[in-house]
Amino acid sequence: MNGKRVVVIGSGPGGAGVAALLQRKGYQVTLLERNNFYGGKCWTFEKDGFVVDSGVHMFSMGPTGQHGELNRKVGGDLEWCVRNPSEHLLMGGMIHSDLYQSLIDPRNVYKFVRAGVIGRLNRKKIKAAASRALGDLEKEAYRASKRYGLSELIRVFSRIHRQDESLWLELDEITLQEFMHRVTDDWGQLQGVAALSMLLLVVPYSQASAAEFFWCVTNIFRHRTLGVPRGGSREIPGAFLRAFRRDGGELKLGSEATRIAVENGKVRGVETTVGEFYPADVVISNAGIKRTVELVGEEHFPQEYLDWVRGLKYSYSFITIKYGLERRVIQLPSPSFFNIPNVDPDHMFDYIDEGGAPADPFLFTPMPSEWDTYMAPPGRQLVIVGVPGPIEVTPEKVEQCERILDRAEERFLEIFPQVEEHIQWKMRTHIAHTSSITGKPTGECIGLAQCVGQTGVHKPSPRTPVEGLWLVGADAGARGVGTEQAVGSALYLANLLG
Ligand SMILES: Cc1cc2nc3c(=O)[nH]c(=O)nc-3n(C[C@H](O)[C@H](O)[C@H](O)COP(=O)(O)OP(=O)(O)OC[C@H]3O[C@@H](n4cnc5c(N)ncnc54)[C@H](O)[C@@H]3O)c2cc1C
Repeated sequence: MNGKRVVVIGSGPGGAGVAALLQRKGYQVTLLERNNFYGGKCWTFEKDGFVVDSGVHMFSMGPTGQHGELNRKVGGDLEWCVRNPSEHLLMGGMIHSDLYQSLIDPRNVYKFVRAGVIGRLNRKKIKAAASRALGDLEKEAYRASKRYGLSELIRVFSRIHRQDESLWLELDEITLQEFMHRVTDDWGQLQGVAALSMLLLVVPYSQASAAEFFWCVTNIFRHRTLGVPRGGSREIPGAFLRAFRRDGGELKLGSEATRIAVENGKVRGVETTVGEFYPADVVISNAGIKRTVELVGEEHFPQEYLDWVRGLKYSYSFITIKYGLERRVIQLPSPSFFNIPNVDPDHMFDYIDEGGAPADPFLFTPMPSEWDTYMAPPGRQLVIVGVPGPIEVTPEKVEQCERILDRAEERFLEIFPQVEEHIQWKMRTHIAHTSSITGKPTGECIGLAQCVGQTGVHKPSPRTPVEGLWLVGADAGARGVGTEQAVGSALYLANLLG
């Protein structure tokens, strides 16, 4: 037995994961969760026999990534549903294509070539529209002067394929947009990458770190196990917490930490809303870096750390419409659908900061019951339509979310008109719901944005300036897509603590 007393604040995938790992190593762990349910943003609820994700989730490496590794380490019971093909794309409103899990799958190669040919037929029209819309010759000339030559291009992509660490350091310093414009100005390709950046990192590609994006993408195609947990997203934190409790860990739901007590630069314990005090040698916060500083009190941190934390930016949000359908209405070869908008890729998501709604929205539409029949009653279908949105929970932004969702719903029903007459129920969730789950004033999807200046060596470390206080979750430590960062950070922190 290690015997050290650990208090973990928050049961998101990061908090649940580190609690299970440390309890297994012999620490004496108490996990405090403010909600009456566990899982944070990775929570699932039940409605009329459907098992509904509170967000809209797919997991890019399924059993073979960080989730699988942590589950194996704690002897968890997490199971996965993996399908191939996994995604059905509608590109530019005209090309339908299923995406298989290996890039070199001959069916993908055939479809990319076919899409390229059809795209070429339409390229004249698109280019004419583009040059009218942009007319920005100076910018074009700059881009051309920066463009990679063929040999450079081959070199850089072979380093990406090898996941060369020194390349990640370089690419952490440039945006994905800048990188892509060194490679191509083809709208079709840029639209795909701009949409994928929003899907994986939930930041527009004009802000996303190129390294973070390629780290995620190469791992998806290398592992080929993109999927969802059997039983819904909550099963990720759920499996970790079952292992945690089996090993003797204490889980306290409905227990909100109000203060992390610090004396002489060292943590002493955690106070909760109901006036309880949990003494601790180690406190690990899954509440996000900004909230953690508030819980401790600014006076315990160096000014430089405080200034840096204040300047950190969050990701954008995904907001959703969820449909419980009376029967299996959408029947595609893949269990998820994506609408890739036919708009200028450099401005695909400008509507978010401009307070508007998109003419052609990017739709991220997993159909959970197509992955896992347990997610809907027999013969019925669950469909979740996700669309990117703003994060501040103000009346204006909430109203903007409703307008974005109106447009998303219209577009979705244009593409799948047969859905309308079979809706058993539908509901919307947006930033106010996400914020009520996390207790933060914002409804960001991921946590901190994986944008230039916040990834790789710039990412907040789990270590803080207060002795015995650590961070875990999407805000601290690891690379990856959403929950993978959170779970990766739990693995990393458990190693650091030994
Ligand atoms: C709509 C949506 C779609 C998403 N899609 C995907 C996807 O497709 N794939 C993917 O991998 N990820 C996705 N994500 C992101 C993913 O859910 C998050 O990145 C992940 O849940 C973050 O995990 P975390 O451990 O950092 O903590 P969180 O999930 O943020 O949980 C933090 C926990 O801490 C608790 N807490 C906070 N303060 C206190 C306190 N003072 N006392 C006690 N408890 C406290 C909260 O209640 C919460 O339970 C999505 C998120 C949303 C909202």
